[in-house]
Amino acid sequence: MHHPENDDCYTGLTVNSGVAQPPSVNPYLVRRRRKPLPSVAEMVEGIVKGDVTTLSRAVTLVESLNPEHQAIAQEVIEKCLPYSGNSRRIGITGVPGAGKSTSIDVFGLHVLRDGGKLAVLAIDPSSERTKGSILGDKTRMEKLSVHPGAFIRPSPSAGSLGGVARKTRETIVLCEAAGYNNIFVETVGVGQSETAVHSMVDFFLLIQLAGTGDELQGIKRGIMEMADGIVINKADGDNIERANLAMAQFKSALRLFPTPASGWSPEVLTYSGYYEIGIAEVWKMIDSYFDFVKANGYFDVKRAEQSRFWMYETINEQLHRHFYNNPRIKQLLAEGEALVLDHRRTSFAAAKTVLDSYFENKL
Ligand code: GDP
Repeated sequence: MHHPENDDCYTGLTVNSGVAQPPSVNPYLVRRRRKPLPSVAEMVEGIVKGDVTTLSRAVTLVESLNPEHQAIAQEVIEKCLPYSGNSRRIGITGVPGAGKSTSIDVFGLHVLRDGGKLAVLAIDPSSERTKGSILGDKTRMEKLSVHPGAFIRPSPSAGSLGGVARKTRETIVLCEAAGYNNIFVETVGVGQSETAVHSMVDFFLLIQLAGTGDELQGIKRGIMEMADGIVINKADGDNIERANLAMAQFKSALRLFPTPASGWSPEVLTYSGYYEIGIAEVWKMIDSYFDFVKANGYFDVKRAEQSRFWMYETINEQLHRHFYNNPRIKQLLAEGEALVLDHRRTSFAAAKTVLDSYFENKL
C-alpha cells in the first residue's frame, strides 16, 4: 500500500507496509486438562503423610468459592480434625514496615533449629479491598521460603474478613494434620484483622517500633489488651536507646491494664530482626507463656472457647450469605430501602417485611 511518507518529497526513511498482527493465543495449543481431584480419602492420606503438594491442593479447595470444592474441603477437614491440634499457634501483628517479614524469617529459623515444621499463614484484609496484598507483594522470608520444614501460604483473598479468617482457621487444621507443629498467623496491624487472628492463636505477639516518644498514641487499646507479648523491633545501632525508652513506656502502660484471663502478665522486650539480636530472648518468653498456660489449664480453656466462637461465626456467616444472596430478598431489600429513604416506611417496618418474607417462604 502506498504511504504518503514514501512520496518523493520525503527524503527520510522508507515506510514499509506492516504485517498482520498474529493472534495472541497460539491456535495450535492443546488445552491442558487439569488433573482430576484425588478422592477425599486419598487427600487425607496424603496430608497425614505430610505430602506438601496434597496439602497445597487441599488448601486451595478450602479457599475456593466453588460450592463443590467447598463440600470436598469440609469433608477433608472433618477427617483431618483427629490429627490436628498438636501445635503452637502464634499470631504476629504489626503495622506495615514494623519488620514482620524480616522477623518471621528469623523467628522461623529459630523455631526450626531443632527440627519440627512451621506453617506461616496470613490474614490480610487489604488483599480483598485492593486486589493486591500488603502481605504478599514482595519477596518475603527469603531464608524460610527455601527451608524444607516451612510451608508459607499467602492470605486467602476472597470474601469478607470473617470468611477469610475462617479459611485460615481451616487451613490451620490441615497444616497440623500434616505435622506442622508450629503455626504462625501473620496480619497487618491496621484494623479488625487482629481480632480475627487473636481468635485462632494461643499466643499473640505485637511487633512495635520505637518512634518519637509518643508511640502509645497510635495503638488502639484493644490491640494492646490482646497482646501476650510486645516486642520493639529494630533495637540496633543508634536506635537502641529509643527502643529501650519505648519498652519502658509500654511496660508502664501495661501496668494499668487488669491481669488478663490467662493470668499471664504480658512482657515487653526489645530485639532486632535484621541483625538477629535478642531473638532467643523473644522465644524464651513465648516458651514460658506456653509452660504457664499449659500448667494453669488456660491453654485448653482458650482453645475450647475459640472452637465455640468459630462454630457461631460459621453459622452467622452462612446465614448472612444465604439471606443476602437470595434474588427475591435482594429485590425486597431494594424496594424496602427506597421506601425508607423516601420516608414512606420506617426502617423497622421495612425490615420486618423482608424478614417475614424470608421466614414465611423459607427462601
Ligand atoms: P513488614 O512490612 O512488617 O513485613 O516489614 P519488613 O520486614 O518488610 O521490614 C520493613 C523494613 O524494615 C525493611 O526495609 C527491613 O529491612 C527493615 N527492618 C526490618 N527489621 C529490622 C531491624 O531489626 N533493624 C533495622 N534497622 N531494620 C529492620
